[in-house]
Amino acid sequence: MVRALSRRFERIVVFSGAGMSADSGIPTFRGGSNGLWQAFNPEELATPSAWRRNRDLVWGWYEWRRGLVAAAEPNPGHLAVASMQRQFGATIITQNVDDLHERGGARDVLHLHGSLFAARCDTCSRAYSLGEAPQEAQREREPPRCDRCGGHIRPGVVWFGEGLDDGTVTLASRAIAACDLLLIVGTSGVVYPAAGMVGLAPRDAVIIEVNPQPSMSSPATDRIHKWPTTAALGLPQILQQLCRDSTSGGDERSDLK
Ligand SMILES: [Zn+2]
Repeated sequence: MVRALSRRFERIVVFSGAGMSADSGIPTFRGGSNGLWQAFNPEELATPSAWRRNRDLVWGWYEWRRGLVAAAEPNPGHLAVASMQRQFGATIITQNVDDLHERGGARDVLHLHGSLFAARCDTCSRAYSLGEAPQEAQREREPPRCDRCGGHIRPGVVWFGEGLDDGTVTLASRAIAACDLLLIVGTSGVVYPAAGMVGLAPRDAVIIEVNPQPSMSSPATDRIHKWPTTAALGLPQILQQLCRDSTSGGDERSDLK
C-alpha cells in the first residue's frame, strides 16, 4: 500500500459506502438486526410504493434510523477524510445517507443516495430540515405536512426504483474522471454503483479499495489495490502517508533547482 502511495497526488477522491459508517456502529440494514423491524426487508420499506401504502411505517423507519445516526459518532476514518479535504482538497462522494462525514468536519459531501437529514415535500418538493431525532424507537410515526401545499414530508433519500440526482452524479463523475487518486472505502470497487464510478477514473490514477472484505479479483479490476482493513484503521494511515509524501515531494522539487 505504501508503494502505491509513494508519489504526490493533487486530485484525490474518496468514495465511501456502508463500511465507513459501520465503523461508527451504524448497521447496514441487511438481515433484520433490530427486533422492531425484523419482519421487514429494507427493500419493502425503501420504495415509493411502500410510501404510498403506509407512510407512517416508512416515516417511522427513517426516523428510527435518524435517531441511530444522531446517537453515533464519526470514527477516525471520517476525521481522516475531512483532513484529506482540508489539506489536499479531496472530493468526498458517499453512498451513505447519514451525516457522519459532515460531523467529522467535511464539507460539500456528494450524497449519491440523498440524506436522512434532507427531507422534502412529496408533492411540491419544498425542502425541510428536521428537528431533533426521536430518541425512542417507534414503528409508526405520522410524517409532518408541508406548510405550502399540505403534502406529506418524505425522507430525502433515494429509494429503490428512483433515479439518482443528476446534479450530484455529474459532480461526482467529473471529479472521478479527473482524479489521480481514488480511495474506495467500505464498499466494493467491483459492485455497482462504485464499479461504474471506478470505470471513469483515468488509466494512470491510483485506485485503492479499503474494505475488510475485499472484492473478488477479476482481470478488469487488476488496477485496484485492495487493502483488507477497516475505514477507521486504514484511512488515518493513508492520510499519514499522503502528508509524508507531500513533504518529501516538496524537497525533491527544491533539489531540482
Ligand atoms: Zn408541499
